[in-house]
Amino acid sequence: MTVSLDLDTAARNLPDAPKGLIGLTRAKMATQLSDDLGLDAKQARMRTSQIFRWLYNFGVTDFDSMSNVSKGLKASLTQRYGQLSETARPEITERQVSADGTRKYLLRFAPGIEAECVFIPDVGRSGALCVSSQVGCTLNCTFCHTGTQKLVRNLTPAEIVGQVLVVKDDLEEWPSTEHGRQLTNIVFMGMGEPLYNLDNVSEAIEIISDNEGLGISRRRITVSTSGIVPVMERLGEETQAMLAISLHATNDDLRDILVPINRKYPLEQLLEACRTYPGVSNARRITFEYVMLKGVNDSKAEARKLVSLLKGIPAKINLIPFNPWPGAPYECSDWETIEEFADIVNRAGYASPIRTPRGRDIAAACGQLKTESVKQRASDRRKAALT
Ligand code: SAH
Ligand code: SF4
Repeated sequence: MTVSLDLDTAARNLPDAPKGLIGLTRAKMATQLSDDLGLDAKQARMRTSQIFRWLYNFGVTDFDSMSNVSKGLKASLTQRYGQLSETARPEITERQVSADGTRKYLLRFAPGIEAECVFIPDVGRSGALCVSSQVGCTLNCTFCHTGTQKLVRNLTPAEIVGQVLVVKDDLEEWPSTEHGRQLTNIVFMGMGEPLYNLDNVSEAIEIISDNEGLGISRRRITVSTSGIVPVMERLGEETQAMLAISLHATNDDLRDILVPINRKYPLEQLLEACRTYPGVSNARRITFEYVMLKGVNDSKAEARKLVSLLKGIPAKINLIPFNPWPGAPYECSDWETIEEFADIVNRAGYASPIRTPRGRDIAAACGQLKTESVKQRASDRRKAALT
């Protein structure tokens, strides 16, 4: 008998998320309601509309609060799905607020299944929620803390949407459509590689962007990828989300080391997929993320090479000072070097904000995310596979 030790390399969905209504797209909710409660198609669509609003515009966590839903239906819903509150939200096991207002949440979705999300307030009434798409990651980018953690599993649409819901609870931003809300943007830059979980990410985006629910427009949703070339077109077509590419190097030799998936999908293929990304235009630019690593990728020559590499692609360049983590094999470039690099990129006509590290004091910055409990789970799983 062959025993696979490679359990952690395949992204997989485990069926341990409780069945409920959260995380279903409109179409799926209507089908489920008609299957489970015997409603006809028209009734199911109408009830879905009402329930969708309660869940995502008002953020309710129990069927009783759904005042325009009949008593009889509420009873059937409760009988079928139990108390909504039991399945509506992941549990917050840790909540930290940084000196700069950044909020980091450690969420528990199921026993041993934990991931983090981070809310980053911006100046004025806006802010981005950085969500996780997987627990851990199958890729091993050498500068990324999440990359040292094995993948446990993909997050479901309910678990991705659940991250938005708990943070909105915490910010007290219900109803969702009210003006002046602070959670205005979603970025898939937490744990995991979203393009290895595109089905679930795509459904989550459909729910999050629904105008009668959370109402965060697709133009304010950014999906960041290390460059899974064959899936990029589908991402654009299905989600119309904004695209961010974790570039980090301007030649294949270095990118092969920093972002090892580059060996499979090298720069030329990646940039071609960017040029043809559905909907890309000067109004919908692709963000290229470039982590500044001291003495590794931060020379002036590399800044110039970066500019020439991106020629012809509507692009923004986001320079990210490297966020250190214990045992990391890199250091952050000096501030002066980062500014010189930014200067070259700016003079070539690219907006190139230097992303100020946020929430460093609570290890909530990019690439610092890692859940301790998961390491344990991954090794448990390996042991289990051997017995
Ligand atoms: N897997 C996806 C999305 C999650 S990573 C991706 O790789 O794009 C989100 C961003 O944080 C990526 O651009 C990643 O390269 C960056 N990042 C990872 N570790 C970092 C670190 N230690 N310091 C700064 N940025 C980091
Ligand atoms: Fe995974 Fe992204 Fe980290 Fe690479 S940078 S290991 S793809 S989370």
